[in-house]
Amino acid sequence: TVVTRFAPSPTGFLHIGGGRTALFNWLYAKRHGGKMLLRIEDTDRERSTEAAIAAILDGLQWLGLDWDGDVVYQFSRAARHKEVAESLLAQGRAYYCYASQQELEEMRESARKDGRPLRYDGRWRDRDPSEAPVGVKPVIRLKAPTEGETVVEDEVQGRVVWQNKDLDDLVLLRSDGTPTYMLAVVVDDHDMNITHVIRGDDHLTNAARQTQIYQALGWDVPKMAHVPMILGPDGAKLSKRHGALGVEAYRSMGYLPDAMRNYLVRLGWSHGDQEIFSTQEMVDAFDLKNIGRSPSRFDFAKLENLNGHYMRQTEDESLVKAIEEILPELGAARGIGSTFPPGLRDKMIAAMPGLKERAKNLVELLDSAYYLYARRPLQLDEKAAGLLADGRTRLVGIAEKLEAVSDWSAQSVEAVVREHADALGAKLGQVAQPLRAALTGRATSPGLFDVMAVLGKDETLLRLRDQTK
Ligand code: GLU
Repeated sequence: TVVTRFAPSPTGFLHIGGGRTALFNWLYAKRHGGKMLLRIEDTDRERSTEAAIAAILDGLQWLGLDWDGDVVYQFSRAARHKEVAESLLAQGRAYYCYASQQELEEMRESARKDGRPLRYDGRWRDRDPSEAPVGVKPVIRLKAPTEGETVVEDEVQGRVVWQNKDLDDLVLLRSDGTPTYMLAVVVDDHDMNITHVIRGDDHLTNAARQTQIYQALGWDVPKMAHVPMILGPDGAKLSKRHGALGVEAYRSMGYLPDAMRNYLVRLGWSHGDQEIFSTQEMVDAFDLKNIGRSPSRFDFAKLENLNGHYMRQTEDESLVKAIEEILPELGAARGIGSTFPPGLRDKMIAAMPGLKERAKNLVELLDSAYYLYARRPLQLDEKAAGLLADGRTRLVGIAEKLEAVSDWSAQSVEAVVREHADALGAKLGQVAQPLRAALTGRATSPGLFDVMAVLGKDETLLRLRDQTK
């Protein structure tokens, strides 16, 4: 059975590229009725933080990517990593290296001069341990093959070949007994019975080194799929200046997880020319062979369009719930607080059909519902203030006519407003525009009569009088 894993290092937030890696692993596992495991690679104690772990788990949950079994924390497996390094030592497939910092620095310096990458020269590889300097704690290095090639048969990149003479003897265990990333990944993937390693192609060279470790241990190498990086719209490496990099930022900006998943799956993977995928469709269609070999570019406009699509498909009540989930971040600045008072929640739900047609994200949606939670007297935006200044005189007397309406509904108020416009010899818009401005504080809103119906008679009249007295 297929077992994949997502193995983030908890040194920041869940990166958008990490979210995609997790999605691909999740889809591949689901597609084949397998499992996706989650391993937090917290071996680097200085850079790993609890907050980053929480952010990663949160981001995965928000994206709807669940994992099987308990989270594996890599650091907790340090004793096992050490044991494996020592077993390689005992078999003569690894050796103690006593090279000092200074010696390594000299190797680095001479490499720099020749313009080649640092290569450890293997000076302790065949040396007798009795020559070990006293008081120096050694590292353990892999006795890597010096001739021939190391080959990775990658599901995405194809056959990738390294000359062994170009790969030096990498460190497995540091002098303080802690494992290197290279060793820990191999031991954990093996012990967790991982069958497919799907990750970013920034790990492709690591794949060669890890293959050497697998071979030294006599273990099967899992299938590998190295996915090209995500680039910015300009083709440069995706970075902060292009836009937000953390999955949680997209949540705060009001994107729906369905839209995000749909967007991410298409970053590097394709299925004919299909753009919109339900989760089930993704699961059914996902495979490794349709992951492209060239990097994909982040396209914010496309994400927005997808989000608009998913918002229009989402139930009104669920949309309001989705807004409420980010309300702790948005509410205070809008005078709402971190939850909707029940009356407002109902009004929001009632207004959703008109609002969701326009908005591209939940923040816009909340802002377009301003008229529902605005406090009197309303703060008119610039356009609305202009419309009202222009048309205020055309509203004279309309409050009294509305006051007389006994069965307040969209239809009955429409009749009154039309009649008022007719009496002035004005077009409906010449009355409706300043009226909308007075009631919503904006120049655009859902249908004016629906707005008035949702606001109710009392609030409508109060707002109208605030702006026309
Ligand atoms: N922890 C590594 C990272 O976050 C990934 C390791 C792997 O997938 O093998 O880049």
